[in-house]
Amino acid sequence: MNWRRSRELFYAIFTVGGLLSPLLAVIALHGMEEDLRRKAHQMKFGSRANPGINVVVYADDFIVTCKTKEQAEQLVPVISQWLAENVGVELSLEKTHITHINDGFDFLGFNVRKYKGRLLIKPAKENKLAVLRKIKGILDANKSAKQSMVIRLLNPVIRGWGNYYSTQVSKRVFGYCDHMINQMLWKWVKRRHPKKGAWWIFQKYFTKRGNRNWVFADGAYTLATMSDIRIIRHIKIQGRRSPYRPGDQKYFETRREQLLLKRLNGFQKKVVRKTDGRCALCGCNISPEHFRRWQVNDDDGILFARMIPERLGGHNTVENVVVTHRWCYEKYRQVHGYDELPDNPERFLSYNERIVNGYVVWTGKHAPNDEKRPDCWTA
Ligand SMILES: [Zn+2]
Repeated sequence: MNWRRSRELFYAIFTVGGLLSPLLAVIALHGMEEDLRRKAHQMKFGSRANPGINVVVYADDFIVTCKTKEQAEQLVPVISQWLAENVGVELSLEKTHITHINDGFDFLGFNVRKYKGRLLIKPAKENKLAVLRKIKGILDANKSAKQSMVIRLLNPVIRGWGNYYSTQVSKRVFGYCDHMINQMLWKWVKRRHPKKGAWWIFQKYFTKRGNRNWVFADGAYTLATMSDIRIIRHIKIQGRRSPYRPGDQKYFETRREQLLLKRLNGFQKKVVRKTDGRCALCGCNISPEHFRRWQVNDDDGILFARMIPERLGGHNTVENVVVTHRWCYEKYRQVHGYDELPDNPERFLSYNERIVNGYVVWTGKHAPNDEKRPDCWTA
């Protein structure tokens, strides 16, 4: 198992106490990596080009990775001295851990650990329990509040937490949290109606929707679930790139586009590619952040809309559907009603369609899916 041994890593996690602000911490710790790499080379950890250590800094926490436990132990006094000399702070030894990658460690709310040689980054247990405690706290504080009120209080917590972890291996944890939340909700509703039967309570507070049987809903309000949040892998940023450096703008533009396309299904991707991710009506860029809000938070700022309206026989085809801001689309429809063809309507037609007397007629063999609905055949 030589290859596996060569990949073994020890991590030492450090926390610097007593720094004023996260920004100052980043500035203070800047340059530590280079100095440490030089030092590691002098201590014969590895070559000058690859001394075998890496440093990850976030605010006043940082991780140093190295190849053996002995190296990690040797590094602690070196780092402690470096901090004392360059930043003037003390390394807090209680918060310094040396651990093997197979045992894993928590960093920024994530648990980083190798399972049978495979690195999985999951939500840390501590943080998972914390969010469940928070939800419990909200339910306890609102024992007799209206159901819709409770949904409105819980949704931002559930979505926010899920969103933070949506870039890593979180599917199972999300499932577990949803299960625990459902159990808490069941206790919450049972307490409100001690004399009613389970079926009565279920019907009052829960509904079935699609293939989900326990949807906590009250009229227009539906409780968000973590399982509905799509897991979309984070695209790593190359080491020295910075969004504030003009030379890297192209790089970040490409990365944004990749992230955006990851969020869409096949049909939506084709539609978005038609206009290079721009709104078809105003020509402005639609940011990945916008798409994220649209997908995760049910924010309705973006619309996949038919340019030839359904009333005129416009179909749900890649040609006819465009991506727009909702605001732009509504403005457009105020000027051009639903009974009017757009300018140059031919460009919204697929090769199976023709316009006859101002209506779109499907001439191909197979009608598109939405044509199965009879009301579309009015043309
Ligand atoms: Zn627009």
